[in-house]
Amino acid sequence: MSGAIDIGHGVTIEILSLEGVASGLDYWHMCKDGQRASGFIPFAGRPADMGYSWTVEQDSPLTISPSLLCRACGHHGFIRGGRWVPA
Ligand SMILES: [Zn+2]
Repeated sequence: MSGAIDIGHGVTIEILSLEGVASGLDYWHMCKDGQRASGFIPFAGRPADMGYSWTVEQDSPLTISPSLLCRACGHHGFIRGGRWVPA
């Protein structure tokens, strides 16, 4: 997690670059039972796009849509302006 960034509210992200392009991100949050959970968010129209993806509205500071929801614990929010914004 050398490139991990704390974006607030206990959420950490790390941008994945493929072919020199920011293509998605891994994100971690504190999930149920106090366990940190991770998920991968591919960006639309970029090399990691697998058919379900998030739209990058702005690369820096990062804003993507729609929101991110953890179905295991209900953790829900947005990445806007490079920060976690609780939903
Ligand atoms: Zn969770």
